[in-house]
Amino acid sequence: MNQITDVPAIFGSDVFNETVMRQRLEPEIFLAWRSCVTGGTPLPIDVANHIATAMKDWATEKGATHYTHWFQPMTGITAEKHDSFLTPVGSGKVIMEFSGKELVRGEPDASSFPSGGLRATFEARGYTAWDPTSFAFVKDGSLFIPTCFFSYTGAALDKKTPLLRSIDEVSREAIRILRLFGDTESKRIVPDVGPEQEYFLIPRDLYAQRPDLRLTGRTLFGAPAPKGQELDDHYFGTIRTRVSAYMKDLDEQLWRLGVLSKTKHNEAAPAQHEMAPIYSDANAACDSNQLVMEIMKKCAAKHNLVCLLHEKPFAGITGSGKHNNYSLSTDTGKNLFRPGKTPMQNAQFLLFLAAFLKGVDEYQDWLRSTAATAGNDHRLGADEAPPAIISVFLGDDLNAVVDSIIEGSDYAGPVKSFMRVGVDVLPNIPKDTTDRNRTSPVAFTGNKFEFRMLGASQSVADPNIVLNTIMAEELGQFADELEKAGDFDAALHDLVVREFRAHKRIIFDGNGYSDDWKKEAARRGLSNHATTPEAMNSFLSEKNIELVTKRRIFTEMEFRARCEIQLETYIKTINIEARTSVDMIRHQILPAAMKYTEQLTRGILNKQSLGLPKKAEMRLAKRLSDACDRLYDACEQLSEDLKKIPAETAKAAGYYGTTIVADMNRAREQADILESLTDKSLWPYPTYSDLLFY
Ligand code: ADP
Ligand code: MG
Repeated sequence: MNQITDVPAIFGSDVFNETVMRQRLEPEIFLAWRSCVTGGTPLPIDVANHIATAMKDWATEKGATHYTHWFQPMTGITAEKHDSFLTPVGSGKVIMEFSGKELVRGEPDASSFPSGGLRATFEARGYTAWDPTSFAFVKDGSLFIPTCFFSYTGAALDKKTPLLRSIDEVSREAIRILRLFGDTESKRIVPDVGPEQEYFLIPRDLYAQRPDLRLTGRTLFGAPAPKGQELDDHYFGTIRTRVSAYMKDLDEQLWRLGVLSKTKHNEAAPAQHEMAPIYSDANAACDSNQLVMEIMKKCAAKHNLVCLLHEKPFAGITGSGKHNNYSLSTDTGKNLFRPGKTPMQNAQFLLFLAAFLKGVDEYQDWLRSTAATAGNDHRLGADEAPPAIISVFLGDDLNAVVDSIIEGSDYAGPVKSFMRVGVDVLPNIPKDTTDRNRTSPVAFTGNKFEFRMLGASQSVADPNIVLNTIMAEELGQFADELEKAGDFDAALHDLVVREFRAHKRIIFDGNGYSDDWKKEAARRGLSNHATTPEAMNSFLSEKNIELVTKRRIFTEMEFRARCEIQLETYIKTINIEARTSVDMIRHQILPAAMKYTEQLTRGILNKQSLGLPKKAEMRLAKRLSDACDRLYDACEQLSEDLKKIPAETAKAAGYYGTTIVADMNRAREQADILESLTDKSLWPYPTYSDLLFY
């Protein structure tokens, strides 16, 4: 196993970061870049030219021969197209060249990326533009330039553009609030994000034997292993040597790319693990998480493993999620979700808390939709991940504060009178005891909110776009009100009381897995969208469209396109799963079960001629035959139903989510019975035991 000797030296060594820029750029070019980044202004072409040359020199020294505009289309993964630096200079000679124009703007032949109807086929071109707030890096012999991706008419075709827009918007509105509290120094507010990433590792040779894993990323069939996760012996357990070698390798690659990989441990399920980086600004965190997912997969290949990022690779075994830790901080380093030490700091904290609660309550459906994928539908509400109902966990201490403020009643803590916003000091809210309820979809954990609904394979862009936008909206409304107020303290107090009261229904600290909560949530009028088609039903509500257009995060067309793509992706995913199911049943599962039945029946005839007892064979053959018949019928039904897909997208999604999913489940049930009855040497696939307990 390779040893990493000097972490500080390798950290970020493949990144064209600020330190490298300072070393390699003329001071005036470096400062020009800095002021563009902090001021959000476009880069002048002569500055871009200088940066391009320096970047190219640096990258070629690191062995790069190509460059690529790296972008994040609406599929949620990343895309790249590589061009070499090669430029002919006559007499068969070449030099390596890279211009500012090539740095700042690209034109990938990107007509095949989903646009949700934003690009007519006659104008299929897409453009990429360098995001100078995100660092370029060298990987696999190419210089990677993080870019935004948009259409000829300027419509956003990616996840980065709306994320950057939402970051600007929340910054602008939060600064207005800080000014009201006398902060004249902070110039920008930055959303900070720390995404915890779960994943499975399984042996590569076994993976290769399963068409379902190869084509859909999850097992469509598989009887439960005799052992599951009931002993809890995997969670935080000793990491296997092979996995440990993988993790070490992964860390090194991530560190080189400047990803602050920090924590690694085994997760709840067998063969499941987690990696958590140290948080960074939302834009960098989003780019980094894309790299993390990509490198997790690539690195696994080197260790003869496969990394599964699917939300639910194995039925009956806890799936993989991604926790999105979110806070807002000033450019002077103050976390706005941290309760303060003085009455005024606390008042400011309570105002941000009120904005958060109001935003999450009012736009709970939009937030829920960010976790809506075919894969994640298996997790949410299945007692292994938060329910499909959005609520916010505050913990006992903060809850007592909120109650006291709402009711004007005695605060049952160290402070003996009720809390007056702006007058009283909050009791000390301990950071560590607040995080014990793992069933909550949104939990306050001392100085940040943890959004726990996201699936492992998803981009973190979407929830952060929502969180930034709703914070911008609510803070903006608060600022409008408070800027006009004559008596600021009184107005502030009234506002906080009013908003806590109005949005108390979104606060829930109990067991999110319980049936009682489903009933209670319904009584409170909270949404409960169990599946993606249901969750997407309210996506295009007037309220959402008004918010995103007013805040200039999306145009209405861009927003409609997102909805279309999310539903289309859902449809395609289940369609592939359904067709793979049919294929596996017809070509491998039924033949295997029938072969075994035939062996048994031949044995029965032989035994009969010898007068031997044959009860076991008879019973087995009967059970196999019955299950085969049922599986055959279920498979035919699925195949027939796949011919009746409604034409309209939302209807089709609903049909896939109900009819097709139910057909697949019915078929799976029979196939899993067959697996449990059939001779293992005849079964075409590695079993759950093989895959999970290697
Ligand atoms: P957990 O108990 O969930 O493991 P940790 O404190 O280890 O909590 O943090 C989990 C993630 O949250 C890490 O990625 C960490 O960097 C991130 N995080 C910590 N503080 C903040 C913050 N203020 N804003 C955003 N993310 C944060
Ligand atoms: Mg966590």
